Amino acid sequence: MLSILFLQEYDARTGTDCECGRTDAGPRVWRCIDCTDNAVCCASCLKERHQRTPFHKVQRWNGQFFARQALCDVGVTVHLGHDGDRCPKVAEQDAVSMSIGDVTEIHAARVYRCNCAATGEDPTPLWEQLLLARLFPATFSESSTRSAYTFRLMEHWHLDIMQGKKLVYDYWLSLQRRTNVVANDLSGYKNFLRAGRYWRDLTSRRQSGQGHGIDAFLPANRYPGSVAIVCPACPE
Ligand SMILES: [Zn+2]
Ligand SMILES: [Zn+2]
Ligand SMILES: [Zn+2]
Repeated sequence: MLSILFLQEYDARTGTDCECGRTDAGPRVWRCIDCTDNAVCCASCLKERHQRTPFHKVQRWNGQFFARQALCDVGVTVHLGHDGDRCPKVAEQDAVSMSIGDVTEIHAARVYRCNCAATGEDPTPLWEQLLLARLFPATFSESSTRSAYTFRLMEHWHLDIMQGKKLVYDYWLSLQRRTNVVANDLSGYKNFLRAGRYWRDLTSRRQSGQGHGIDAFLPANRYPGSVAIVCPACPE
């Protein structure tokens, strides 16, 4: 088994011409360890395969080993508001550099918002566009929204701390180490902590039915706005 694990560290095709036939994108030195097919390929093939999966974990052969690299380094970008396609009204300078946390790792990403708006109205705020794309913003201010987390990460985090009684601090540090194994960076911790509080509150309001005004259908002895699970046998 150990020899099979060692096999994962190198690919004999590394450095050869890519099977796509394009020579302008360089030799095969890139690979994705989240794709089922993790064969080495050129930068162009990697970009093409990941335009709709921008939060995969990729690596580049540096001559000695496969080192962590970001998908935005090969030109993969995130587009909001048009099902993953670029907004026809967005300009190159509108791109925002963001940090996006996912279960795979914390990614650097270039995010293009949607600038479409009805006549006389402003475009949808960035935090709202992120939520619609299943990215939970760390802050809700138009100018300071530079971090977000995939819904997949928030759901994983919520289940993990509920089941394992883990501290948010420990979860965040393990995600940091998944990004960079020697990292001890707590710079994004407070943002994640705050986002987690929002997520837990929104989840409990959604799951309790309060988001749909369930109080109108429940016995009057319940506290208005309660998110506790209804117990029919309990006098409350
Ligand atoms: Zn991939
Ligand atoms: Zn290629
Ligand atoms: Zn648009």
